[in-house]
Amino acid sequence: MPEIDIPEELSKIFSKSTRVVVLTGAGVSAESGMPTFRGEDGWWRNYRAEELATPQAFARDPKLVWEWYDMRRKIIHDCKPNPAHETITKMEKYFDNFQLITQNVDGLHRRAGNESVIELHGNLWRVRCVEEGKIFDFEEVPLKEIPPVCSCGALIRPDVVWFGEMLPRDQLDAAFEAAQTCEVIFVVGTSGIVQPAASIPIMAKQSGALLIEVNLEPTPISTFADHSFLGKAGEVMPKLWKFIKVRI
Ligand code: NAD
Repeated sequence: MPEIDIPEELSKIFSKSTRVVVLTGAGVSAESGMPTFRGEDGWWRNYRAEELATPQAFARDPKLVWEWYDMRRKIIHDCKPNPAHETITKMEKYFDNFQLITQNVDGLHRRAGNESVIELHGNLWRVRCVEEGKIFDFEEVPLKEIPPVCSCGALIRPDVVWFGEMLPRDQLDAAFEAAQTCEVIFVVGTSGIVQPAASIPIMAKQSGALLIEVNLEPTPISTFADHSFLGKAGEVMPKLWKFIKVRI
């Protein structure tokens, strides 16, 4: 990959900034071996994610939906956080007021060591009882029984936000608050088309934050980003970190 050109003015901004937000999408986990939804590898047994990750699909065929999640959980279980995740962990330790907002459900940010994480779309290592609404960690891989059931006998479902469902209000409010009060926002590996997450960078920018984007290709966010770095997150993020670290 060619050396990325980091403008000198960024050093001053980084050195003064304490309130930093990082927003991530599926692209941040791509180099860990996680397929994104919109890539060519987004098919499974002739189904698209949009046909499986819905309340209707679960009501119709919980076994099929859980088989798909079991396959995804097996893949993620064997994945490791990559240098982009590791850089974001360092950033959390470094900046006084740091907030990570992720659309990913793979739990790789927490595995890498981030603690201040807003998971807008949930986490597929957690489940929810469909009867009692009880939420708990459930890390069995592979599943012994499909579909798995709660101790009360009812079905459990992944604690993720499916197509057509509302995002958790408290997580969304916390994300909006962080976006409106940060000085710098990094937007890493997201196509910027899934709402309401896609409005977070706009909100930050309108509130005066500097917007830095890292993606393989231009996205709708690129048009209003202050700096867009094209490249793999696992390569660009460590380079940006080196720059932040040297300059502060
Ligand atoms: P997306 O699939 O719509 O877009 C991924 C983006 O990442 C694209 O813009 C692509 O150019 C970029 N990208 C791919 N590889 C990259 C790399 N190595 N470095 C930098 N950028 C890279 O993903 P999204 O915007 O997160 O929205 C998809 C939705 O699907 C989200 O709601 C998310 O919850 C869900 N999802 C999650 C996972 C996961 O948890 N890992 C995986 C697939 C989908």
